[in-house]
Amino acid sequence: MRAASCMADTRRFVAPQAWVGGRWERDVLLVAQDGLWQQVRAGCTAGERAAAEPLPGPVLPGLVNGHSHAFQRAIAGLTEANAQGHDDFWSWRDRMYAAALRITPQQLEAVAAFLYAELLRAGYTQVCEFHYLHNDADGRPYADPLEMAMALVRAAQRTGIGLTLLPTLYMRSGFSATGLRDDQRRFASTPGSVLRIAEAVRRADATGAVTAGIALHSLRAVDEGALEETAQAARAAALPVHIHVAEQQQEVDDCLRRHGQRPVEWLLAHANLDARWNLVHATQASRPELEAVQRCGASIVLCPSTEANLGDGIFDLPRWLEIGGRWSVGSDSHVTRSWMEELRLLEYAQRLVLKQRNVAARGRRQTETASVLYQAAVDGGSAAAGLPLGGLAVGQRADFCVVDAQAPALAGVPPEHTLSALVFSSPEAPMVRVCVGGRDVSLDLPAAAYGAAMQALWP
Ligand SMILES: [Zn+2]
Repeated sequence: MRAASCMADTRRFVAPQAWVGGRWERDVLLVAQDGLWQQVRAGCTAGERAAAEPLPGPVLPGLVNGHSHAFQRAIAGLTEANAQGHDDFWSWRDRMYAAALRITPQQLEAVAAFLYAELLRAGYTQVCEFHYLHNDADGRPYADPLEMAMALVRAAQRTGIGLTLLPTLYMRSGFSATGLRDDQRRFASTPGSVLRIAEAVRRADATGAVTAGIALHSLRAVDEGALEETAQAARAAALPVHIHVAEQQQEVDDCLRRHGQRPVEWLLAHANLDARWNLVHATQASRPELEAVQRCGASIVLCPSTEANLGDGIFDLPRWLEIGGRWSVGSDSHVTRSWMEELRLLEYAQRLVLKQRNVAARGRRQTETASVLYQAAVDGGSAAAGLPLGGLAVGQRADFCVVDAQAPALAGVPPEHTLSALVFSSPEAPMVRVCVGGRDVSLDLPAAAYGAAMQALWP
């Protein structure tokens, strides 16, 4: 990657305890140069400590948020009444479209900036933005095709979070449709249009903090030819590729009806999956499908709070962990901005179904569930973002956060159980400091512009 805006800039930190390679280490020297880790070493000497800046609490790597639709932050908490006596994913989607049809570029920037600041405060330092609001509210392309994309880029740059923008191809309303519904007019795009946005965004940022990949909205939204054309271009440019797949049972049924294959099965047969692919949700994927995805080296992006909020179902986490599948975590519709809540919910869903405890740590004696889940989420982040974001290790981007050691939830907790307390004991505002590429970011929320945008959206 290109270095962040700190050329030939070296910063030395020392942490009383830091999460390195899947476990807590003590007295860790962390040296960042040009935005990347140049040294990470436990048990530093008194001399090294004296020459470094002390960090005031346990240090965690920054986490990648693998799936975000920033504009949906504007409806978090606003879709929780049962409007028609029966409510499901599809009726939620109609209400979500009301926001999608209304939001202006200025409002999107304000909502995204507030959201990204919230994500930073929680310890996410990179967000993968699955972006399909391309056109003006009437469905006509903006004079500048980058109008909405750049609103997201500016929001990221203002807050300091890293951004992987994923311009999203969305061409039709269902497997058998030839075009979009009227209320999907802002999503209209072609392989060429999304690839041009990705290329322009990659050129627009000289710091390396903003990059781009490509997304295919879903199999129902993209036909085979367009999928192949886009995937080939993404392969040539070595871009990460994201796709929503097998989230809802209806999607599985429609795909079976249309193609005689389940969505993940069809994707495996037609898309040449490799390690750049990120399958978002895969909630309904069968065990043979999961095993085949793992063999391709593709990742899955799990969004537990949104999947619960939308009634999607429960991902087969035990099997995916058992076969060593790679995954990242995403906050998707942003009903929570806390990765701690995401990981807790991921585990609790399994406990409720299986009537067992510590399911993610099954088969690993004396290993804490939070450690297993957190390290897996760190390991999966680079694939989602297409950047070296694999934790506190030489060559990775120097992202980290400092946990508030004074948080009541951590009071009296032995240091080695810090992660468990973070995930299973509900601390509020747990981070006191967050750095991206070796640089501090503000933890203030840009609340005034967000408040004004929300007022205009929902008068
Ligand atoms: Zn999504």
